[in-house]
Amino acid sequence: MNAEIIAVGSEMLTPYRQDTNSLYLTEQFNRLGVTVAFKTIAGDRLPQLTDAVRHAFSRVDIVAITGGLGPTEDDLTREAAAAALGVPLKRDPDIIAQLYARAAARRWKLTRNNEKQADVIEGATILPNANGSAPGQWLDTVVGVHRKLAMLLPGPPHEMKAMFEAQCLPRLQEILPKRHMAARVLKAAMIGESAADARIAPIYTKFADVETTILAHLGDIELRLQCTNKIPELAQARVDDLAGKIEEELEDFIYSSQGETLEQIILYYLEMRGATLAVAESCTGGMVAERLTSVSGSSRSFVGGAVVYSNRLKTELAGVDPALIAKHGAVSGEVAEALAEGIRERCGATLGLGVTGIAGPGGGSEEKPVGLVFLAVSDADGTEVLEKHFSGDRAGIRFYASQQALDMVRRRLM
Ligand code: ATP
Ligand code: MG
Repeated sequence: MNAEIIAVGSEMLTPYRQDTNSLYLTEQFNRLGVTVAFKTIAGDRLPQLTDAVRHAFSRVDIVAITGGLGPTEDDLTREAAAAALGVPLKRDPDIIAQLYARAAARRWKLTRNNEKQADVIEGATILPNANGSAPGQWLDTVVGVHRKLAMLLPGPPHEMKAMFEAQCLPRLQEILPKRHMAARVLKAAMIGESAADARIAPIYTKFADVETTILAHLGDIELRLQCTNKIPELAQARVDDLAGKIEEELEDFIYSSQGETLEQIILYYLEMRGATLAVAESCTGGMVAERLTSVSGSSRSFVGGAVVYSNRLKTELAGVDPALIAKHGAVSGEVAEALAEGIRERCGATLGLGVTGIAGPGGGSEEKPVGLVFLAVSDADGTEVLEKHFSGDRAGIRFYASQQALDMVRRRLM
């Protein structure tokens, strides 16, 4: 079975609003073993909307429409769906009574245009709206010789989700063949998308029944594995089998096998080892600390640190010898090393991290170009220094530097 989702609303054809309802619905459909074949965004104009609905009925089994169920002139989904199916709308007196009762309970005065929310497509089942006034509609009908399912859902995401879950999901589960979905999310840091794919494509392409999706962010890759099967244990076994093989291939690039973030993993390792971390950040300006402290409970192992942007503060707060800065420059392996060691000592932490680099776009030279970053991690066993050359704009270079810094800490802890 396949589906089409139609998001109704002219605002989603502007640069200011995005359709997010279809993301939720796609996830739900996939779980049911339904593939989303098309997504359409249609403005609040009757001819175009009718055309979109008709087109959807001609090419998929399940049509989900969100938005345009309210009381205003431009809420036209009911009219469009009825026109597309060539059936009339009928005003339902029970819904009208409910609309007035709902308004009275809230001391609202209802205007006449609200009554159009009581228009029901012939043959449709009314779906009560627990969080709003506009009811939805469910259709199980035949177009030509094909059985078609359709649902009209409200636009506001919380209304749409609640209605789908309570009203549509049970109906779909009843109608569709039983399927179970197992999923895993693996994450890898500081490996390029194409490099990772070149290594794992020969593996995942052999698992035809597992859908593998690669999502790349800056310095971070997410591998989503998904398998649907009649037997839940079999779906899980297939996903786990593939996850194991990918982990074997990408080895220590993989930092998470259950979807955890890099920050969460570091804090988990720190806590497990009874260790603490302090940071001295120059070019990342506190981004490493920000990312770590965004995880709740981080205070148990992240002690803090300093943003040491100026040379003076590198010395005053992290104890870097001014002579070292004068000799090698603030952006150097020697200064990164001194930052890591100094902040570790001053904060009394098990591990110290130092980051210094040139984020650009200005400030680069032939010898020290934009994107050059030195990182260091220090603990009782010594200090490790890394030199990296990142490309991208200022925001990208700074993020890469924070990602590399976190990954260095992770590798040290492993
Ligand atoms: P209402 O009774 O609130 O008018 P409605 O069913 O007519 O409900 P719309 O008027 O189309 O829904 O949309 C109401 C609001 O819901 C929009 O302003 C928008 O913020 C949000 N919304 C609508 N469609 C989507 C969508 N596809 N993704 C995310 N948000 C949406
Ligand atoms: Mg509306």
